Amino acid sequence: MKGIYMKKLFICVLLVIFFGNTVSANVGFGPAEMYVTNNPDTHIIGNATLINGDDVGKYGVFQLMMPFSDKDTFQISNSEIMHARVLCNDCGKSMQRKDVSEYNHERLEGYCPVCQSDNLVFYDVLPRDELQMLSVIPSGGFHLKKIDDYTWVTEEKISPHGYCNINILYNSVDSYLPSYLGEHWEFHLRGKTKEGDGNDFITGGLDLRVLLSFKFPLDIELCSDVVKGEEFTVNIRVTDEKNSFYNELKKPVTVEFNGETKRTDSEGKVSFMMPESRFDYNYTVHVLESDLYLSENYVVSHGIQMFEKDFFGFFSFFQNIYVIISLCVIGVLSCIIILYIRKNYVWE
Ligand SMILES: [Zn+2]
Repeated sequence: MKGIYMKKLFICVLLVIFFGNTVSANVGFGPAEMYVTNNPDTHIIGNATLINGDDVGKYGVFQLMMPFSDKDTFQISNSEIMHARVLCNDCGKSMQRKDVSEYNHERLEGYCPVCQSDNLVFYDVLPRDELQMLSVIPSGGFHLKKIDDYTWVTEEKISPHGYCNINILYNSVDSYLPSYLGEHWEFHLRGKTKEGDGNDFITGGLDLRVLLSFKFPLDIELCSDVVKGEEFTVNIRVTDEKNSFYNELKKPVTVEFNGETKRTDSEGKVSFMMPESRFDYNYTVHVLESDLYLSENYVVSHGIQMFEKDFFGFFSFFQNIYVIISLCVIGVLSCIIILYIRKNYVWE
């Protein structure tokens, strides 16, 4: 009786060793870590490569995950969250919460163990709402099908020692909530390979850490006409992808124009000199990306008037001096014609 039991145990151990090795040793998934921000233009925030290190073709599986929390209840684990990423803004040291000196869990404060700076970025667990806005698409050669919440599998097998590239997408169009300003989130993407095309999930796989800084888009509005050799002013405001609101900047931003670099004032305004030139050229007002805001460009050229480019463009029609002169001429001519008609015709 004891002999049969030992035999069974021995086979079990063999099976675990065998499968344990084949599952984890022959998969490559990288990069291991990526720092990204939301991207209103393409929604692509990053890309990754899954390598099939086996001698047989295998399907690739990709799964988006909220880290440090229970898979079913999404409850954050107090011990797991100590592994969340922390970045020092001064010396660039990348660490985990457990490495932070005098770490305060309530206020998310502490000191860098290397340079003692308190200028630290604490990456929090991605909100569940935002996990819904993430997806994975192939970036060439493969097709992916969604088989479960946050899970995709390749429709084609990855050839032996071949690889599959994917893009990570984040649709942030409805995510511009005031409370998200300056937020930093961590989520994980697991990559693994499997032999069958059914839902026969194998455990294991490799996790990739995605560190997302959520930034708001900016809107640049002209506050004065643009004339060669004269100063013009732009107003920079916070908006969203749909331009459905405009808020004042919470922190000044750096703006470049024609080789000059300036900071916005307390009202979010900045002025630059439009260069003198014999011909008319386009010049770009460029707002640099900051820790809270995405970069933005605005093209100006000589003769552009306030309001001309935005929603009230219609009214700028009346601001044009030639239009005003034309309207005056038409008015005067109309009066003369009316007077002429009244003088020369007898009304019955
Ligand atoms: Zn530091």
